[in-house]
Amino acid sequence: MSFTNKIKKKGPVDIVKPADEVFDNVYPTRISNISYESVIESQKAVKEFEDKDRDILIKNLKSAYEEVFIKIIEGCMLSDYIDTIYNNLPEKIKEDFDESKCISQLLNSVNIYLVSSKMGGDKTSDEREIPSDTVESIVLSKKELHDNIANKKFEEANKRGKLNNAVRLGCYIRDTKRYFASEGFIQAKASSIHSFEDVSEHCSIFLWVDNIYDISKKNDNPSFEALFTFVLLHELMHLMMDVFDETKFGINGAGNLKDLGQLYGYFREESLANALALYLCDATRNDALVYSILDYFVEGQTTPYQTGLLYIEKDLLKKAVTNWMKCKKGKYLTKQLAKEWLLEVTTESPRQSELTRIEDAIATLVP
Ligand SMILES: [Zn+2]
Repeated sequence: MSFTNKIKKKGPVDIVKPADEVFDNVYPTRISNISYESVIESQKAVKEFEDKDRDILIKNLKSAYEEVFIKIIEGCMLSDYIDTIYNNLPEKIKEDFDESKCISQLLNSVNIYLVSSKMGGDKTSDEREIPSDTVESIVLSKKELHDNIANKKFEEANKRGKLNNAVRLGCYIRDTKRYFASEGFIQAKASSIHSFEDVSEHCSIFLWVDNIYDISKKNDNPSFEALFTFVLLHELMHLMMDVFDETKFGINGAGNLKDLGQLYGYFREESLANALALYLCDATRNDALVYSILDYFVEGQTTPYQTGLLYIEKDLLKKAVTNWMKCKKGKYLTKQLAKEWLLEVTTESPRQSELTRIEDAIATLVP
């Protein structure tokens, strides 16, 4: 039975039909079928634009979705992660489907909402709350972070003593109270994904079309299409890494390690989502996409995101992602290794050999 048939009872899947019925609304899209023009044209976030801008937007949104789905997702560029995902799926969803398709099916199951900054607090057509586009973010420099970790002032770093409001371009959410690595494990709940229906029901990606457009217009680089593609990939990679997040991840060791755990989790999650998104951009062999993101966008991001640039070697990236997914499945990491990793990535010139050594050490801890 196909995935579509299985979940036919659910509204969000029938995304083409609602396009005609729902006027001026925020309804879910999937990466595989944005190509239906009506799906984009009827989106409230797109209608907010002037005619000229709207035409550009519609064209670019379509090609970004197509690039991500056809070239990247269907193109098996994530095949290194198939085993990790497939071998950890519950038996009942393995029965009916093809291993080679598990990543594309997973990533195509998530509801993607195109929103604008005005819509924070509103609801989508399927009653999901639209998050605010403003968040507080760590603004400590690399050196300050490094010194705090070295001097055991984790608490300071984690309380995010120095906070700045950051504008969101995209976000990935599992339910409303899902556990974010960056928020500590207080809200942790056993909520692993048991089926692709769970993904469409519990996971969402929000993309702030106006914020992405503003950035691209202000600097002319990266282009709207390049930045939108990158943000979409970044959020999809959070989903790929999140699929086994069963309870909480933690760090095993003496003393109060909560703060170190939070900082480590935040750095790991964001750096890997960025690294995977960059890796996928690179795999498209579209130089305009890669260089505009690297030269004009990532440079301006905060340290946890920039850390993604350190996973240059494909093998290191694969080890790191697999280790992190396993940590999120409830395996515990040692304080020592978490700290060594944080200290290395916040040094002036982190060493690839050292990062590889740490990944190998983590791998031996996490079966
Ligand atoms: Zn992120």
